[in-house]
Amino acid sequence: QLPPIDGDFYNLDLKLTEEQRELQLKVRNFMEDEVRPLVNDYWNKAKFPFEIIEKFAQLNITGVPYEGYGCPNLPFLMEGIIAQEIARVDVSISTFFGVHSGLAMGSIYLCGSDEQKQEWLPKMQRLEKIGAFGLTEPNVGSAVSQGMETTCKFDGENWILNGQKKWIGNATFADVIIIWAKDVDSHQVKGFIVRKENPGFQAEKMEDKMALRIVQNAIITLTDCKIAESDRLQNANSFKDTAKVLKMTRAGVAWQAVGCARGAYESALKYTKKREQFGKPIASYQLVQNHLVEMLSNLTAMQTMVFRLSEMQDEGILTDEHASLAKVYCSMRTRDIVSRAREVMGGNGILLEHDVARFVADAEAIYSYEGTKEINSLIVGRAITGYSAFV
Ligand code: FAD
Repeated sequence: QLPPIDGDFYNLDLKLTEEQRELQLKVRNFMEDEVRPLVNDYWNKAKFPFEIIEKFAQLNITGVPYEGYGCPNLPFLMEGIIAQEIARVDVSISTFFGVHSGLAMGSIYLCGSDEQKQEWLPKMQRLEKIGAFGLTEPNVGSAVSQGMETTCKFDGENWILNGQKKWIGNATFADVIIIWAKDVDSHQVKGFIVRKENPGFQAEKMEDKMALRIVQNAIITLTDCKIAESDRLQNANSFKDTAKVLKMTRAGVAWQAVGCARGAYESALKYTKKREQFGKPIASYQLVQNHLVEMLSNLTAMQTMVFRLSEMQDEGILTDEHASLAKVYCSMRTRDIVSRAREVMGGNGILLEHDVARFVADAEAIYSYEGTKEINSLIVGRAITGYSAFV
């Protein structure tokens, strides 16, 4: 039995099987016991807590939906539930996990040959090898499908990669970095498994971020970086294949937003019941209750939305626009929830020790990555009107 938790008002937990709830509880306990006590300090110092990786691996939650290669092969719904549980305590750790397990492992799972999957997925599943995903560039973010500047060229034996990638999470320490580059001959985007020791590969940490400070984002520079044909993702032949990976992981980002909102709501509720002003807990005042109810109603709407989204993913009927709608709605509502959470905590709301300040900052990154709110709106807009408004 899961302990009662305030941020699941419609008891969606009860829709899970006994086994699924056990796994959810295992992740929740891990996040509460091992991560919550250290996360504000690491966030403040912009460092990654490497000491949690071994215990994280023991949860056996990496590569949740994949079949074979040592992966759990659980429903996408469980991937979402896990993303929510991790982000409920810290969004940076859930981003580390989403980049590794979703984007990097997902690229190999969806676009790699069986040999490539055999080589990488079991080690990545056990977190012995860590992955990163390099798509965005200094000059192209939203328009990366059209304007990618990083190039690859086959010299008859190897591929030669040149260019830069920006914002690449985990890349300062990742063992394997998926790099997307445009073939100068075919003009198609191809994917590469780049090892950190590859000559010509360099990753430099991005400093001074105001969100997701634990995530080690890097600028990657590729200078005549030579990659064997055997390390080209064998089933990635155009940007359509890159997009398949993004479609699979975007639902997870919506769940991450839900986790962030839930963490902020739960902290704020707890705080307002304890904090007294004018001789009474501030939770007893109507204006504070109005904030709490607005937060809870938005959170509950988000939760039911992403629950159905993952069910559709498991039913095999998820489209890009389904995932985009959830990303749009959840990242917007999360911004509103974290800001109300901060407000009801008064000055303490901007102190790291009360957790909510971290959620406020991290919600900004959720709003912009894996397709900004605007780009995801355009994806939905195109689907419902038949008109593309991208350019
Ligand atoms: P731009 O594309 O320059 O957009 C700027 C603004 O213009 C946005 O508001 C955007 O919505 C708007 N805009 C652009 N085009 C249009 C249009 N046609 N109509 C209306 N509005 C438009 N990338 C990776 O490859 N790997 C990672 O691991 C990774 N991790 C990240 C982690 C963090 C913390 C962040 C912030 C980003 C990360 N990214 C990563 C990059 C992320 O995916 C991009 O930031 C995102 O795609 C937006 O690109 P951009 O920042 O260049 O913004």
